[in-house]
Amino acid sequence: MRMLIMGPPGAGKGTQAGAVAESFGVPAISTGDIFRANVSQATPLGIVAKKFLDAGEYAPDDVTNNMVRDRISEPDAAVGFVLDGYPRTEQQVKELDEMIAFTGGRLDVVVCLTVEQDELVTRLLGRAAVEGRTDDTEEVIRRRQEVYCAQTEPLLDIYRRRGQLVEVAGLGDVIEVTERILVAVTAALAS
Ligand code: AMP
Repeated sequence: MRMLIMGPPGAGKGTQAGAVAESFGVPAISTGDIFRANVSQATPLGIVAKKFLDAGEYAPDDVTNNMVRDRISEPDAAVGFVLDGYPRTEQQVKELDEMIAFTGGRLDVVVCLTVEQDELVTRLLGRAAVEGRTDDTEEVIRRRQEVYCAQTEPLLDIYRRRGQLVEVAGLGDVIEVTERILVAVTAALAS
């Protein structure tokens, strides 16, 4: 199973990627988590990425692409993966196509979680209080939404045209949303 979970910041991609990946027996790979781990350990990658994360901007494509290429070539991802937070730019879509073609596999499905704008900001501010992420301040949240709308939302059309996109309502409790995703993915794979 090679799957992407897309959607705006605050849609619940991370939580759902974990649950869905577990049910398919593949790793959930979150570029945001990998960046944050590198930032907190002050690795060379983390030092480069920190200013972008803190400002709510995207890290440079070449840095992000290399990081994903390395991660999906690890043995646990040979059976597949659920990617959370990648691709986010057109250049990343192109790179991912090449990475997957190189393995001889194919992308099975792309899930987009849909949630209303107001609900997103409420959720992110709530998460800020719990997790203390440095990019969950109101100003940075707003910037992350803008960057998503400008650079990532248009990518949905690419996958829609390829017939790989499945849109799932992200509202409701976590287990309900997971169920909805699994039903939608199963239907998409069978069609
Ligand atoms: P996330 O946890 O997915 O919201 O990601 C947190 C931050 O990590 C983003 O705001 C970006 O700064 C950076 N990031 C994560 N994924 C990507 C990506 N695919 N391309 C560029 N930057 C990314």
